[in-house]
Amino acid sequence: MTTAEELYERYPEVLYHGDLRDVPVGWLGIVGQYFEVVSPLMTDTGYEVVTASECAGGLDWTWTSPLSAMTEERHQVMDREDILLTLRSYHTCRECGRPGSGWASGRTILTACGEHGVGERILDRKPLMRRTPYGVVHYDAAADKLVVVNPEDV
Ligand SMILES: [Zn+2]
Repeated sequence: MTTAEELYERYPEVLYHGDLRDVPVGWLGIVGQYFEVVSPLMTDTGYEVVTASECAGGLDWTWTSPLSAMTEERHQVMDREDILLTLRSYHTCRECGRPGSGWASGRTILTACGEHGVGERILDRKPLMRRTPYGVVHYDAAADKLVVVNPEDV
């Protein structure tokens, strides 16, 4: 599995030591996938992670960069990669990185695989949608991509 140390070493332009301290270890793989795309694009833009933590079964991820660095192309790619990262987290076990789903234990909701899930599996979880500048999208976990959906169906 990917470790935080590996990511700090691989992406020194966009990551500071400690940025990933609150990210569950099972999600470091999807963070690595994200930086494969984001790091070359955002090098020298002052990209800095602001929030990287677990919230209600998903990865809450925000960043900042001086506005002047943001071109139209960067905006488009970052919009997509940010959404992909968050939606992937809802489908990835926080412990081991294998495919996961939501589990409810008391008031806590965590995303985990069958082996690491605690409590009751959430069976009727609605597909997660996100509003973007190019329409409403949902995440196709099998294809690992965003699919634009008809707003009438939302
Ligand atoms: Zn697991």
